Amino acid sequence: VEAREGYATRRPASAARHAQAAEVMPGGNTRSVLYHGPFPFTAEGGEGCRLRDLDGHSYVSMIGEYTAGLFGHSHPAIRAAVLRALDTGVNLTAHNPFEARFARMVRDRFPALQQLRFTNSGTEANLLALGCATIATRRRTILGFQGGYHGGLMTFGLGGPGANPLNVPHPVLLAPYNDLAAAQALARAHAGDLAAIILEPMLGSGGCIPAGQGFLEGLRALAEETGAILIFDEVMTSRLAPGGLQEATGVMPDLTTLGKYVGGGMSFGAFGGRADLMAMFDPGRPDAVAHAGTFNNNTLTMSAGLAALGEIYTPAVAHAHNARGEALRAALQAAAGDLPICVTGRGSMMAFHFMAQAPRDAAEAAAGNQALKELLFLDLLDRGYYIARRGMVALSLMVGEAECTGFVEAFADFCEIRGALV
Ligand code: PLP
Repeated sequence: VEAREGYATRRPASAARHAQAAEVMPGGNTRSVLYHGPFPFTAEGGEGCRLRDLDGHSYVSMIGEYTAGLFGHSHPAIRAAVLRALDTGVNLTAHNPFEARFARMVRDRFPALQQLRFTNSGTEANLLALGCATIATRRRTILGFQGGYHGGLMTFGLGGPGANPLNVPHPVLLAPYNDLAAAQALARAHAGDLAAIILEPMLGSGGCIPAGQGFLEGLRALAEETGAILIFDEVMTSRLAPGGLQEATGVMPDLTTLGKYVGGGMSFGAFGGRADLMAMFDPGRPDAVAHAGTFNNNTLTMSAGLAALGEIYTPAVAHAHNARGEALRAALQAAAGDLPICVTGRGSMMAFHFMAQAPRDAAEAAAGNQALKELLFLDLLDRGYYIARRGMVALSLMVGEAECTGFVEAFADFCEIRGALV
């Protein structure tokens, strides 16, 4: 309570802006993930890895727009690409010079993609991949995993598939993450109607919990056995290796969904995979499945994406960046000393858990102390570091060694001052 009050007292301009926003948006909010009590700060602007709020505080963004902000707030190559698109003309209502080049670049990068189509968000990409799977298999049921986040219309918490009343009403079975036997039992019991198995190859929002190799390989085999389509939601994890976790683990899904940084920080999503499945979207076919979307090939995203993958996040940069993330995670874990805190994750994505043993699934993660996560979030804000309130960090390319060192020091301070609570 004291930390919340201190936070609010130091941010009166954000409080006033929040009150104005609440007159036109419920809770002053259009992204639930940003909300926290008593109100979130309003960013006035950002540059590189830094954000400024309305009350004159400066923060290093260690959340990097939940992985989409890999290039920071003002990368010159992204800026130039967006300007090229503006000069070409927006809203062309036709195929454009950037689109097929970008599609080829994405296809060549991720090994399980033979063909793909663009969308405007990761949410849409997942809905379309699931639609593709249900049409191809003529089945309805989906197997997902607790704690999986597949977008605003498919949020798989612990409370069952209908826990979020907005969820698209597929019949959904949920197994604990990393529990192959549970997934096998559910899939086999529903094999006659199982259309798809969908998962993030590392739980992202659910706590940066890596999948065991045997779990992924077992799900690949389970999809073969039951005739279901295996979908990897790599909206977040695609940044963890040049070709995503499918490349890093060698486990190939039938369909892959992408989003976030791949579009250079613009609105972006894509889904794709086996050419025989994607063929249903060929509008030249008499039985084609229609997939339209006004902004699917918008020039701003297509051009920014070409710069993102082609000029900035090259395979060598991806390797180096994830190695930096591993080093940061190790330094944070070391700073925690003997306290019961685990920093889980892989490469440039990580999360704090207030517990002695690293969680293997969402239920174990939920058993950690959530109030301490909020305290860490608020304390770090006052030290000038912005992480997700749920304890997640996504390293951007703009965060340098000095910022990483400062972040580890700020976390070490937290451990020292708040250690008795932990
Ligand atoms: N899938 C995963 C794994 C995500 O983390 C997200 C967003 O956080 C999405 C899908 C949804 O993407 P978008 O917010 O672009 O709709």
